[in-house]
Amino acid sequence: MSKKLKGVSLAGLQKLIEEIYGVPDDRLYSIEDMLTHQQRFAMRSLKGIRKGDLKKIKLNLMIALSWLLAISNRFHIEVDDVVWKRFPGACLYCGEKTCECKRTKLTKRKTIRGDLLRKPKTLNEWQLLFNKIYPASGRTLDEAGVHFAEEVGEVSESVHNYLGQHLKRQFSEIQDEIADEISCIFGIANSAGIDVVTEVEKMYSNGCHVCARTPCVCDFAKVSLLKT
Ligand SMILES: [Zn+2]
Ligand SMILES: [Zn+2]
Repeated sequence: MSKKLKGVSLAGLQKLIEEIYGVPDDRLYSIEDMLTHQQRFAMRSLKGIRKGDLKKIKLNLMIALSWLLAISNRFHIEVDDVVWKRFPGACLYCGEKTCECKRTKLTKRKTIRGDLLRKPKTLNEWQLLFNKIYPASGRTLDEAGVHFAEEVGEVSESVHNYLGQHLKRQFSEIQDEIADEISCIFGIANSAGIDVVTEVEKMYSNGCHVCARTPCVCDFAKVSLLKT
């Protein structure tokens, strides 16, 4: 069964990833395994940036996104909510609708008025919003890649901190870091000219992009050896 995903929301995509991968993820992978897979594909997308290979960037960025959503599912984190909490229509540091962090040096964070804009309904609206807050013209694709790598590391760090002590504060750090990484995924997409929803539709409208099943029936070895 083929799904139309054109107008899918971020929450809808997260749910779809749960439908496709929730069962095999729960049976096959620890949270550490999931982080490793997430990092593996994120790094491959960076390799695509270094080599100027758009196809490699696209595919691996989308797989990294799906693993990040799977990690969010494992923790029962509603990605749509945490991203909006972190980016309510404005930059989280300077509070501007188009970030001015590079132009002005802030000594402390401004409070953001969350009621300035309405929360994006679709993936496409999220992508447009991130391009408004952080226009692709303000950075190179390499810079977007370096920022992405930084955030991938911070997600991992926050998860490991939480697993060590299980503090509430550490759980909310996981939420913040996931939101930051999502913003960087859209950032790379905007810098590289990738339409996220088009790629998502190509990959997931028939289930898993490898086995084309819902739930996915790819085994551990297949996922471990997947060449992208
Ligand atoms: Zn800013
Ligand atoms: Zn599969």
